Amino acid sequence: MSTITQLIHSIPVDPQTGAIAVPIYQTSTFVQEAPGVNKGYDYARTNNPTRETLEKIVAQLEDGATGIAFSSGLAAIDAILKLLQYGDEIVAVDDIYGGAFRLFNKVYQKFGIKVTYVDTSDVQAVFNAITPKTKLIWLETPTNPTLKISDIAAIAKIAAANKCLFCVDNTFASPVLQQPLNLGADIVIHSATKYLGGHSDLIAGVVVTRTPELGAEIKFYQNACGAILSPFDSFLLIRGIETLHLRVRQHCSNAQVIAEYLAAHPLVDKVFYPGLKTHPGHEIAKRQSKGFGGIVSFTLKDDTQAAALAFVTSTQYFKLAESLGGIKSLLCHPAGMTHKSIPDETRRAAGVADSLIRLSVGLEEPADLLSDLDLAFHKIQQATGSVLSL
Ligand SMILES: *Cc1c(COP(=O)(O)O)cnc(C)c1O
Repeated sequence: MSTITQLIHSIPVDPQTGAIAVPIYQTSTFVQEAPGVNKGYDYARTNNPTRETLEKIVAQLEDGATGIAFSSGLAAIDAILKLLQYGDEIVAVDDIYGGAFRLFNKVYQKFGIKVTYVDTSDVQAVFNAITPKTKLIWLETPTNPTLKISDIAAIAKIAAANKCLFCVDNTFASPVLQQPLNLGADIVIHSATKYLGGHSDLIAGVVVTRTPELGAEIKFYQNACGAILSPFDSFLLIRGIETLHLRVRQHCSNAQVIAEYLAAHPLVDKVFYPGLKTHPGHEIAKRQSKGFGGIVSFTLKDDTQAAALAFVTSTQYFKLAESLGGIKSLLCHPAGMTHKSIPDETRRAAGVADSLIRLSVGLEEPADLLSDLDLAFHKIQQATGSVLSL
C-alpha cells in the first residue's frame, strides 16, 4: 500500500456512529464508572480522542513512535527544552526561526541553559561547537529565509557519538519531503500552522519522537505544563493533513517554476531555492529530501529597503503577510518585518539583505503567479527609474 493510501485510511471511521470524518470531542471531562475506572480518558488536558487521533496520524507521517500536539509551534519547541536541566548547552543552527531564538535567549538562558549558534551547513562547525555539556543539537533545514541546507544524517552521527539529543524543526520541508527520524534524528517538531495545516486558519505545533520512551517524557510535559491543542483545531489539522501530499507536490512544482523565472530576471540579484543547481545545498537536498519545498527568497539588484517595499506592495496574488505554507501565495520583506528588531549589520551578516524578499508559493496557477511578479517588477522599475530593460 502506498503511503498516501495508508495515511488516508489511518484516519479512523468512528466506531460508535460510522462517521467518516473524525468527531470533535468538545468536552473537558469524561464520566467514570468508579474512581480510576474509565474508557481510557479522564480529563481532556491529559487526553482527548480528537487530539489523540491527530497525534497518531502525525507519528505515522514522520515514521516515529509517538506524536504530541501543542497549541503552537513554539509550545512544541518549549516542551523539548524542558527535557534539559540547569547548566546544559544547546548547539543550534545560526539561521534559526526568530521565535525559537527569542525562546532560547530570553526565556531559557535565565534558567541557566546556554546556546551556541553555528552555521550547521558546515558539519565540522557543529562538531567543533560540541562540549561535554552539550545535551541538544537543534536544526532547521531548509532555513528561513535564506534556505540553507544542512546534512541531517551527518549531524545525527555527531549527536549520537556525543550522546546528545538531536531535534529537527521540519516545518519548511514537511514530512512529505523529508523524514529526519529516518536519517537519525531523535525528535522532529513542526509549526503545524504552516504546511501541515496548510490553509492559514489555525496555530498548532506537533512533536514526533523516534522512541516511545522519549515520547512519554514529552507527553509528561504536555500534561504538566498544559499547552495542548484544542479538539476543534485538532480536527482542522487532521483535515489539512488529508491533502498534505497533494498540496506539497504542487507547492514544489510551482516554486521551481518561479525560482527559475527569478533566476533569469534582469532586476534580480540572487535567488535562494534548493531546487536550483546553483544553490550550494542542492546536492544534499536532493539526497535527503524528495523535493525542494514551496519557499523561494530573492534579492534585487537595487539592494535597498525602498525597492523591496515597492515590490511587496505591488503584487495582487502574493499577499503581504508573515507566515507561510498556506494555499494562498504570500510574500514578506524580512528586513522590514520578521527581522526588523535585529541590528542592520547583524542582519546583513546573516545573509538577510536589505532587499531580500521571501515568497511562500501557493497553489494558484503558476502562470498567474508569474504575471503577478512580472507586473510588480514593472512597477518597481517605474518607481526607481531603473534603466535595466525587461
Ligand atoms: C512559524 C515557525 C515556528 C513557530 O511556530 P508557531 O506555530 O508560529 O508557534 C517554528 N519554526 C519555524 C521554522 C516556523 O516557521
